[in-house]
Amino acid sequence: QAAFTKQLMAVYSHGSDEEYMRRLQILQALPEAIAERKLELHFQPKIDCATGTVVGAEALIRWRHPQLGVIRPDEFIPLAEQSGDILAVTRWVCEAALNQQQYWLEQGRKLQMAINLSAKDLQDSSWLSFIKAELQQRHLPAETLTLEVTESAVMADVEQAQQQLTELRRLGVKIALDDYGTGYASLSQLKHLPVDELKLDQSFIRGLTDVENDRVIVRSTLELARQLKLETVAEGVEEEAAWRLLQTMGCVTLQGYFFSRPLAATEFENWLSTDAS
Ligand code: C2E
Ligand code: CA
Ligand code: CA
Ligand code: CA
Repeated sequence: QAAFTKQLMAVYSHGSDEEYMRRLQILQALPEAIAERKLELHFQPKIDCATGTVVGAEALIRWRHPQLGVIRPDEFIPLAEQSGDILAVTRWVCEAALNQQQYWLEQGRKLQMAINLSAKDLQDSSWLSFIKAELQQRHLPAETLTLEVTESAVMADVEQAQQQLTELRRLGVKIALDDYGTGYASLSQLKHLPVDELKLDQSFIRGLTDVENDRVIVRSTLELARQLKLETVAEGVEEEAAWRLLQTMGCVTLQGYFFSRPLAATEFENWLSTDAS
C-alpha cells in the first residue's frame, strides 16, 4: 500500500492521461525489471583529447520493455528517483559495469569505468560500504572507477554531498561533476567540492564551432579547471572541428557521437578492435 502511494505520488504531476498511465506502468514494471535483470548497459568510449586514443567508458542504462517499448533513461530515472527504486538501479548498474570492466581487464584492456549516481544515492549511507565491497570482490583498484554526479544533484544538498563525496574519494574512487555549467555551482563552492573532474555539459559543446559565447565559456571553464587542478571532459562532441578546437583549448578527455554512440558490450569490443588506437 505504501509503495503504491509512493508510485502514485511520483507520477501524479502534470501531462495528459496517457502520459500519466505510461509513467504509472513504468513504475510498476521497474522492480521486476531490476529483480530479473532486464535492464542493460551500453558503454560510450571516453577519448584522450590530445591523442584520440580510448581511455575509458561511461556506462549508460538501457531498458527495452516487451509492451512499453524502449524506455529512455531520462524518462525512467527521474521516476525511479521519486519512488526510491533508484537505489536498486544504481547498485545493479555498479555491479554490471564492474563485471564488464573486470572482464575487459582480463582481456588485456585497461579502461577507466564511469557510472552515474543520482542525488538519492548520495543520501544513502550504505552506498560507501557497498562500493567498497564490490571493488574488493573483484580486486579492482578504486582509482579505475569514476562516479559521475550531476552538478544539480550536488547543489540539492551541498553539505551532505560534500561529506559523502569526501568519504568516497578517501576510498580512492574518482568523482566527476556531470553536466557542469547547468547547475549554478558558484566558484567558491567549486573550490571546496571534493571532485577530480569537471564534465562540461553538451549544451556548450554543441555550439562550440559557431557560437562565440559558447567558445568563451568553454575556454574559460577549461582554464579555471586547470587552475583548480581538475581534469576535464567535454561531452557531446559531434564533429571533428569541435575536437580540434578542444585540443587547442587543452581539454583532457572527450565523449561524443563523432567518436562513438553508446554501444552494447560486444559492439564496444568490435569498435575497439577496428579503432586504430
Ligand atoms: P548523461 O550522464 O549526461 O549522459 C550523456 C548522454 O548524452 C547519454 O544519453 C549519451 O548517449 C548522450 N550523448 C553522448 N554523446 C552525445 C553526442 O555527441 N550527441 C548527443 N546528442 N548526445 C550524446 P542517455 O544514455 O540517453 O542518458 C541520458 C541521461 O540519463 C544521462 O545523461 C544520465 O543523466 C541518465 N542516465 C543514464 N544512465 C544512467 C544510470 O545508469 N544511472 C543514472 N542515475 N542515470 C543515468
Ligand atoms: Ca554522465
Ligand atoms: Ca552529462
Ligand atoms: Ca544529462
